[in-house]
Amino acid sequence: MEKTLIDNETKEITQKPSIYSYELQELEKWLVENGEKKFRGKQIYDWLYKKRATSFEEMSNLSKDLREKLADHFVLTTLKTAVQQTSSDGTMKFLFELHDGYTIETVLMRHEYGNSICVTTQVGCRIGCTFCASTLGGLKRNLEAGEIVAQVVKVQKALDEQGERVSHVVIMGIGEPFDNYDSMIQFLKIINSDDGLNIGARHITVSTSGIIPKIYQFADEKLQINFAISLHAPNTELRSRLMPINRAYKLPDLMKAVKYYIEKTGRRVSFEYGLFGGVNDQVEHAEELAKLVKGLKCHINLIPVNYVPERDYVRTPKEQIFKFERTLKDHGVNVTIRREQGHDIDAACGQLRAKERKEETR
Ligand code: SF4
Repeated sequence: MEKTLIDNETKEITQKPSIYSYELQELEKWLVENGEKKFRGKQIYDWLYKKRATSFEEMSNLSKDLREKLADHFVLTTLKTAVQQTSSDGTMKFLFELHDGYTIETVLMRHEYGNSICVTTQVGCRIGCTFCASTLGGLKRNLEAGEIVAQVVKVQKALDEQGERVSHVVIMGIGEPFDNYDSMIQFLKIINSDDGLNIGARHITVSTSGIIPKIYQFADEKLQINFAISLHAPNTELRSRLMPINRAYKLPDLMKAVKYYIEKTGRRVSFEYGLFGGVNDQVEHAEELAKLVKGLKCHINLIPVNYVPERDYVRTPKEQIFKFERTLKDHGVNVTIRREQGHDIDAACGQLRAKERKEETR
């Protein structure tokens, strides 16, 4: 968990990990090893996740000595809000600045069933999906688990003012979560903990572009969280055009890994299928897709894509979206069309960050 971090204010390079990267048991272990009582761990967790403290000094029931020790060993990650946009449908999009100056996006979506937050796992992304603005500047660095946790805490703090809570988490923001696997798993454990934010496993969804070895590893973890695959094409040729990762991890092998996951966990898989006008949205694509997922315990999420200024793709007309859906249904496939949110803000993944980067380089 040791990381080299640059403090933006002091420009000092530190090796301090974020305290949000620690599970309660790990924190208790650290306290005991440093001559402190184990029960202090729960007190600290309370400050972090219930009182949502933003500094160690605030932790008034800890001795000054312990507060200093904590500050010497850890960073209490606070994200600076660089931009905040609110849509007319209540969707909130945040551009947060990390303490090395990099920026990340986090989105809060309002649903009937609760408030869902979409978190980022990497600064940029190296996967190179042709429809995605997040990958334009490449991968800068992985986020530490605590930096992912801090996004949830920060948005929860904004919701506190409205007496609401973050009830659902989707790991679908900037980055490929399976490319930062250990931090993502640590993040899951921390937000799922009763002593922390207590977000139920079944309320958490992780999505991958298809890093096959990690899918097998993830299946073996036997977690109760929801699992989604960014599919976007019904055959390997088209998928390689849309998502270069398919050249390394081919569709037939991906489907084998998905089958393994379903068998191992007994859980249903979701396939995310973005509809790109004239590219993958024809009836024959829907028929091919139905054949591909036949017999699998799965669900298909159709996503009418937003126009991304940096890319050439255009929206699929409404009637075509319904035709595509109907074809899948006629083949007995479980399918829904994702409700669009944040239409009047930079809602597509990476758009806000890409816009800010462009403005910075002007
Ligand atoms: S869609 Fe996801 S995996 Fe693909 S480039 Fe964008 S952030 Fe990376």
